[in-house]
Amino acid sequence: MKFKPANNIQDLQYFGEFGGVNPSISDSSTYTFLSAKTMFDTFEGNADGCYLYSRHSSPSNLYLGAALAAMEGTETANITASGMGAITATLLQLCGNNDHVVSSRTIYGGTYAFLKNFAPRFNIKTSFVDITKLDDVEAAITKNTKVIYCESVSNPLLEVANIKALSLIAKKHQLKLVVDNTFSPLSITPALLGADVVIHSLTKFINGSSDTVGGVICGTKEFIDSLRNVNTGAAMLLGATMDSIKASTILKNLRTLHIRMQKHSENALYLSEKFKSIGLKTVYPGLNSHPSHELYKNMMNPLYGFGGLFTLDTGSKEKANALMELMQNKNLGYLAVSLGFYKTLFSAPSSSTSSEIPEDEQKEMGLTDGLIRFSIGLDSDIERSFEIMKNCMIEVGVLSK
Ligand code: PLP
Repeated sequence: MKFKPANNIQDLQYFGEFGGVNPSISDSSTYTFLSAKTMFDTFEGNADGCYLYSRHSSPSNLYLGAALAAMEGTETANITASGMGAITATLLQLCGNNDHVVSSRTIYGGTYAFLKNFAPRFNIKTSFVDITKLDDVEAAITKNTKVIYCESVSNPLLEVANIKALSLIAKKHQLKLVVDNTFSPLSITPALLGADVVIHSLTKFINGSSDTVGGVICGTKEFIDSLRNVNTGAAMLLGATMDSIKASTILKNLRTLHIRMQKHSENALYLSEKFKSIGLKTVYPGLNSHPSHELYKNMMNPLYGFGGLFTLDTGSKEKANALMELMQNKNLGYLAVSLGFYKTLFSAPSSSTSSEIPEDEQKEMGLTDGLIRFSIGLDSDIERSFEIMKNCMIEVGVLSK
């Protein structure tokens, strides 16, 4: 597979209205029209280049959307106020009364809760499957299925979806393959592998500074136009629109994503190899021992590595909690949910970001209460971080001396 250099951002050219190297931030919720006829045409969706109202689109959101579409290799993109704003708008656009979704069972807890508890209000039902078992995925498809949904690398168990194979199943049954690529920006490019819609929570690696929430839906012009339709578009009507100031800051942060991802991946590979070598239960797609290591290698852009996340099973909730508190005291990172920050973040998903998933289902999918999810930061001396982490593990009894 051929990849373009960096994240294609370098091929984009911006001239702000006053010659600035960054586009000007649009500071308006509404826009004037020189003729009433053009306003009417815009409502009908026929006036390309005209802005109507900032919930529909704004120049700042369009700039950020263009950059993310270039990165993901899709025709265009729609910016949303959060990752959940992107996920819910996409699923409600693609599914309606009596429709059915086949979803990976290991997905972000909020997405799981939406599909399990909220979408049934619209009579949208979901079958949760082991996404790594392609026969199970195909067997779950019914005549009402509209969407196959997965994360390229799943939260929190780091299962890897075979996007090419899933896209063939989707095509065979005329379904849309929707992939949340939040954990693996640049490393995996789902649209190149056949995904129809690619979603990100921009809150994570893409923005990278843990100062805002945001989301994006990347897809065809036809799909994105349908999301923005003033009469029937889920993005337009549900209203999860990003503010222009936030869009402009995320665009600026996006420009260093390729450098940050390399460092996140390099540090996560170093630590996971070290932890594995001293006998800890470590899961990272970059390790040979990961069941989908070869699959990931076949899908990835090797410049960006296997991502910044790994998990470590400490054996019990008590040990996990003690370890996280001690690591925070030693300034190794923060006991916090989310990911993609310059500092390492750690949390125990079973009692936090995946607590929406009932205990018996957590058990079935292998999510134990002693499991810690690490989002490894941009530490410049990762060897030192390892030594301090190892000592913390000895102190709380996760490792013996
Ligand atoms: N997708 C994944 C994989 C996530 O981890 C999260 C949040 O943790 C989301 C989506 C939701 O994103 P947001 O919090 O920006 O709504």
